[in-house]
Amino acid sequence: MTNNYKMPKYNPDLSHNQRYFFGNWKMFGDFNSFNIIKNIEKFYVKFRKKEKKSKIVICVPNVLISFFKKKLKTKTIILGAQNCSEHVNEGPFTGSISTSLLKKAGAEFVILGHSENRKEGETPKLIKKKIKSALSEKLNVIFCIGETAKEKKQKKTTSVLLKQISQSIDKKFNLKKIIIAYEPVWCIGTGKTPSSIDLMEVSIFIKTFFHKKFNTKFIPKVVYGGSVNGKNIKFFRKWAPFIDGFLVGGASQSSKNFIDIIKNYYK
Ligand code: PEP
Repeated sequence: MTNNYKMPKYNPDLSHNQRYFFGNWKMFGDFNSFNIIKNIEKFYVKFRKKEKKSKIVICVPNVLISFFKKKLKTKTIILGAQNCSEHVNEGPFTGSISTSLLKKAGAEFVILGHSENRKEGETPKLIKKKIKSALSEKLNVIFCIGETAKEKKQKKTTSVLLKQISQSIDKKFNLKKIIIAYEPVWCIGTGKTPSSIDLMEVSIFIKTFFHKKFNTKFIPKVVYGGSVNGKNIKFFRKWAPFIDGFLVGGASQSSKNFIDIIKNYYK
């Protein structure tokens, strides 16, 4: 951040009161990992009495969703999936998990368009079908977008984001159930984070672009993801009016690290 940079006048229309703390376990964890969820639940049952506008959603491997759901003592921790099939119901799709089954298992959210899946060949067209399928089952969608290091260097960030949104989101979707996760690819698992100016400008850009493009009556929610931890969360806190929460990968695989993020955010 340049020292003489002045933050634009706070525009309350661009912010939401709710703060989301999403965990993305990726392909980590097993049946014993319920301990992590249990610790977070224990902490959060007390914490949310104070911070009522916060929400915790942990996206775990599919096979753990119903197992964890049954073991949770309260409804304070919400569970989510990390991907889904574009198909709502059963069919000859070997290895795929339908959105209706995810819903039955207890998922309320699903991460879609994650860069790790885009890298494996997931196309914007397929992501769009998956979003449609998830929404038809009334799942909330965490839709990931973000530029690569090369695209950033070429100053293509906004054009990339604009394209990613336009290619996978349809005006006819239930847009209120889509939360956008801005995840610069070069920040995921690297320890790198965007500058405060970039982060603020990008989140404002996404909110205003989405709002105008789809002519929505509301401003979409935008969370940030990429190497968030208990230390740098204080930096992100400063830009809180424009960022509605965080998608946390590595640090969500430890209850201590995840709890530190939440505690330090509100400190
Ligand atoms: C992610 O995978 O969505 C992510 C943000 O990962 P990390 O926090 O480990 O960078």
